[in-house]
Amino acid sequence: VPSHVFTLGDRDVAGIATQAGGRTSHAAILARSRGIPAVSGVAGVPAQIKQNDLIVVDGREGHVLVNPDYETLAAYRKLQREFVDLKDALAENRDQPAVSADGEPVQLLANISCTADARAAAAMGASGVGLYRTEYLFLAHPDVPDEEEQYRAYCEAIDASPGRSITIRTLDVGGGKQIAYIGGAREANPFMGWRSIRLSFEHPQFFLAQIRAVLRAAADDGRPKQVRLMFPMVTTVEEMRKLRSFVHRAERRLTESRTPFGKVPVGLMLEVPAAAVSIDVLLEEADFVSIGSNDLVQYLMAADRDNPKVSGLCRPLSPAVLLVLRDVIAACRRAGKPVTLCGEIAAAPKTCALLFGMGLRCFSMSPAFVPIVKDLIGRLTRDKAEALLRHVLKMRTVSQIAKYMDEQIRVISPQLALLDS
Ligand code: PEP
Ligand code: MG
Repeated sequence: VPSHVFTLGDRDVAGIATQAGGRTSHAAILARSRGIPAVSGVAGVPAQIKQNDLIVVDGREGHVLVNPDYETLAAYRKLQREFVDLKDALAENRDQPAVSADGEPVQLLANISCTADARAAAAMGASGVGLYRTEYLFLAHPDVPDEEEQYRAYCEAIDASPGRSITIRTLDVGGGKQIAYIGGAREANPFMGWRSIRLSFEHPQFFLAQIRAVLRAAADDGRPKQVRLMFPMVTTVEEMRKLRSFVHRAERRLTESRTPFGKVPVGLMLEVPAAAVSIDVLLEEADFVSIGSNDLVQYLMAADRDNPKVSGLCRPLSPAVLLVLRDVIAACRRAGKPVTLCGEIAAAPKTCALLFGMGLRCFSMSPAFVPIVKDLIGRLTRDKAEALLRHVLKMRTVSQIAKYMDEQIRVISPQLALLDS
């Protein structure tokens, strides 16, 4: 579960293999952000493992091998060295600007769960934080952290973020993330149940405290900063209006008590198909959009992101997913509203190239992936990426698209193909 990975801290963990979960399960996301190879959905393997067995965790292909033969082990050792060398070499681009081969600038932001991640983001050359998952502040806490404590944590995160630029997401628990002291009873369909803002709405005092803490952290302190407030799992326009009214209430309270605060852009995470369908109307109420593709893919395909049995369906390269992403990005651009994508696909070369072809110019990802994406974008032109997109949108199946994009990434950069899966 996510809290296990979160509390691994600095312990020396070489790899994680789990029976449950999928590529975008939160435990896998956290492992990846800490540079730990992780494979989920490996039924049966744990039963075979004994003390002192040698285990290969191949996070790229999703394989777990127990006591491999000499040749296999040597091949993996070689791959491991190449992988580390390549990542080190790419990390040297951290001070270079992120621009495409034909000179279009892109913004590469980082997803963080704590202040240490924000420092990693700066070290990797991200230009800001595109997603601060605040739930980990709560997961690591014995009870609800009060407004003061949250305020301090957000100030700290702002100071550690590159350019003091950060997008703070309000609590997103339920679904794959549970917190003992908040939330409800077990549900038959937790991802479609009482999660995220649905839960926050029913704890208005807590929710207002979180919003106030963010607004206070955004107060002018004489140095440049950019703080944005983002709400997860927005499904309807009524919800978006209600969220705005929560922000107004928080602002009123702070004004009345003469507490300094800053006005912040208010945005939504686009993760629910209903929101994608009504994007034009939602955009009237939102200052910006961040596409949460981890959830959007699972909801669109009706395939649980944590269930390995349906991982064959939960595929971001599915034609249906690509069409929805294309339309949402186009709608945001038409409306002149900033749009980012902060799911795992922002950092995977195949999808990243297609997103660039859709006109996306702002990507948010685990800090470790920023140099990889910077390298990829530097090899793409708008014409090339648009041509790739046009080509795959004529295809009918996910396997055709995946195969074609594999070949294309290999041509664009054989090295980067090594990092894709
Ligand atoms: C997403 O759903 O894509 C996302 C970034 O949010 P999370 O992974 O925290 O659900
Ligand atoms: Mg999500």
